[in-house]
Amino acid sequence: MSRQVLTTAPIPSYLQPEGLGPWGIYLQQVDRVLPYLGELARWADTLRRPKRALIVDVPIHMDDGRIVHFEGYRVQHNTSRGPGKGGVRFHQDVTLSEVMALAAWMSIKNAAVNVPFGGAKGGVRVDPKQLSLGELERVTRRYTSEIGIIIGPHKDIPAPDVNTNEQVMAWMMDTYSMNEGATATGVVTGKPLDLGGSLGRREATGRGVFTVGQAAAQRIGLDVAQSRVAVQGFGNVGGVSARLFAQAGARVVAVQDHSGTVYREAGLDIPALQAHAARHGGVAGFAPAEALTVDQFWDVECDILIPAALEAQITEANAGRIRARMILEGANGPTTPLADDILHERNVLVVPDVIANAGGVTVSYFEWVQDFSSYFWSEDEINARLVRIMQEAFAAIWQVAQDHKVSLRTATYIVACQRILHARALRGLYP
Ligand code: NAD
Repeated sequence: MSRQVLTTAPIPSYLQPEGLGPWGIYLQQVDRVLPYLGELARWADTLRRPKRALIVDVPIHMDDGRIVHFEGYRVQHNTSRGPGKGGVRFHQDVTLSEVMALAAWMSIKNAAVNVPFGGAKGGVRVDPKQLSLGELERVTRRYTSEIGIIIGPHKDIPAPDVNTNEQVMAWMMDTYSMNEGATATGVVTGKPLDLGGSLGRREATGRGVFTVGQAAAQRIGLDVAQSRVAVQGFGNVGGVSARLFAQAGARVVAVQDHSGTVYREAGLDIPALQAHAARHGGVAGFAPAEALTVDQFWDVECDILIPAALEAQITEANAGRIRARMILEGANGPTTPLADDILHERNVLVVPDVIANAGGVTVSYFEWVQDFSSYFWSEDEINARLVRIMQEAFAAIWQVAQDHKVSLRTATYIVACQRILHARALRGLYP
């Protein structure tokens, strides 16, 4: 009897990119690195499909007595190098496709900084601003219970992301622990300090942005102490990055947040701006500073531009106007692929999110390690280890970019995909 030639199943419709959404962008990024993967390219389909994707129903009692159902997801993109790791997002626009892309980017990020994790991400399609505290807790606990069949300290470790915080992590840890019958602090990171959280976690992403920024500046002969910095987003990532650059002597000339844009050629007083933003809910109205329109932000003359707010901020519409030597991506996905190409042609160095903002997950890794040993490190120790990991990771990526004459984004994907697929090849296929 003749045998039919079997081929890999076609990519099913739910894994097809929806236009050029996040998953489509991710698939394009993978295609760009294929020529550099050598023998490992035969495993590349591993990167094009999530290992596991779970859709869960999250019904809760609302305060007014109604029962409302939300949809939740947990995607484990790849676990070749270790348990899944990645945040949980509560947002009204969350989709399975978006969570798949975010999970895949976590695989890349974790491999880029060489922490022993795969990539995962989760989300619930809900606007948490419309929920009372009690409703938020019930959504969190039911969602955690539903994804409990695939998460765990050795399986998949969630963390905070958009609209989730230390309190949400405390509820997740408690729910998982109740179901297991034992306290399992290592099931989530980004927890409050009193529940096994880590010192330095809150500032880790901004500190990583600063560390990688310093290393990149050095490579292009830019003196950080003499540089001008513009920052979009003045929250956890943007605020800490701005403060560390200012402390290093840089002039932070422009800051934009949801409330407005402030500019001062001589440099903004960052601690005073943080106090103003805390008091007034944003940077608008700060003095001494000039107010700019939202769009004028992109014309600001500076050396280092740090997008640290939302995705798709640097597009083909403004990439040609940017007057910076370097873009340090604090946010996830702030630059569209078309803008990336324009910036590359204009010789603007783009330090991609998957390395620039990896400081957060690096200290999450430290938190997980500390939880297992129940022995907690000092903040100095944590910061020193964070800086070392970020510097080593950046140096390796810089070298690959030089060797292959590719952008830092492609270089980061080359390093990360090689690590992931090498682990996959060593493990082999089961059965
Ligand atoms: P955050 O909520 O603390 O701060 C967000 C900031 O963006 C706020 O200052 C807000 O005013 C500003 N913003 C919102 N809409 C804006 C708009 N339309 N224009 C200009 N500014 C606007 O969030 P965060 O934790 O600092 O995260 C920022 C980005 O960094 C996100 O893309 C996030 O995914 C990414 N990131 C965060 C971490 C982390 O550890 N917090 C780690 C990796 C990546």
